[in-house]
Amino acid sequence: MQFSKVIGQQQLKDSMIEAVANGRISHAQLFLGPEGNGALPLAIAYIQYLFCKNRTNTDSCGTCPQCQRITKLNYPDLHFVFPLALSKDVEKSSDVFPKWKEAFLKDNYMSLTDWMNFLDAENKQPVIGVGESKDILHQLSLTSYEGSYKVMIVWMAEKMNLVAANKILKILEEPPDKTIFILITESTQLPVTILSRTQITKVPRLTEQEIAAALIKRNGQSPEMAASVARTAEGNYRFAQVLLTEDEDAQFFSKKFQEWMRICLKLDGDKLADWIGNSDNGISTIGREKQKQFLAYSIQTIRHSLLLDKLAISISASDEDFLRKFSPYISFEGGNVIFEELNRAYHAIERNAHPKILFTSLSLKIHDTLAQARRAITA
Ligand SMILES: [Zn+2]
Repeated sequence: MQFSKVIGQQQLKDSMIEAVANGRISHAQLFLGPEGNGALPLAIAYIQYLFCKNRTNTDSCGTCPQCQRITKLNYPDLHFVFPLALSKDVEKSSDVFPKWKEAFLKDNYMSLTDWMNFLDAENKQPVIGVGESKDILHQLSLTSYEGSYKVMIVWMAEKMNLVAANKILKILEEPPDKTIFILITESTQLPVTILSRTQITKVPRLTEQEIAAALIKRNGQSPEMAASVARTAEGNYRFAQVLLTEDEDAQFFSKKFQEWMRICLKLDGDKLADWIGNSDNGISTIGREKQKQFLAYSIQTIRHSLLLDKLAISISASDEDFLRKFSPYISFEGGNVIFEELNRAYHAIERNAHPKILFTSLSLKIHDTLAQARRAITA
């Protein structure tokens, strides 16, 4: 990872370059700052700059064997420690390093939540446990591959439990020769003894302009969309990415919902089959999590159509246009029947119901309700 791949943080990059040039590299450093600031990719770019054989005075070369291996997190003198969902098979970071590497290479700005989701361990407490300290000592005691520094990056160091923190402190107090520790943390909730042993670098939030530029360059967003997302992202690039996906999802759900209600109203079998499963984005093909989100979106939209003239609700002009035409088909009673059906479907998806069968029967029930309303209107 080159500095040029890290968003913003130019001042810090400059001082890292200077530290390497002067050979003044502290053996115990702490990068402190909020989520989405890019502290982890920055630390890796820094180490790559240190190890690069052809560095310039602005960046590593990106092509020498050292750069190539570090970019793939495949460098024998660079080790990582990170929080885990501990179990009897997983006690230390090296037990799941290939997975962590995969997650990081997929998204250099991943958050701790992203990592736990990646492990399918959303409900577990992420911990850096005591199993690490032995492994750290072992890794650092090995002869360095290049005869140069050995580096240990501890990501989300605030997740160290007390025993692990004490052991790591001991290592920081008497570090093996030519080792560099970089602890990365989002909070100062670390033992004071650790804070006092490390050189602290504050890694600030990104600016709105930096986030906007990154959304255009890395995510291919339009300048307008990038600016709007950057305004709400609070200097957190990871949050900006979440906002973008939500926005894309919202557009997809809105389109899908309008198609669905039109199909239900007329009950067109071929179109329904397409909508459920034969088209590219058939609802049965998008995965359970998204199906649940779509049902939640549908519940919300039915609610909006009942409240359309009663409450100020913030919806887009095209959604409002649709709801104006659609809301006459949603009576208070009918709306409640649909609510209940959508709710039931939501829970059925959680319990692994078959999506094609579920959406077919749900569509028939919604059709019944809408058709009743239509008869009442035309009568
Ligand atoms: Zn290089």
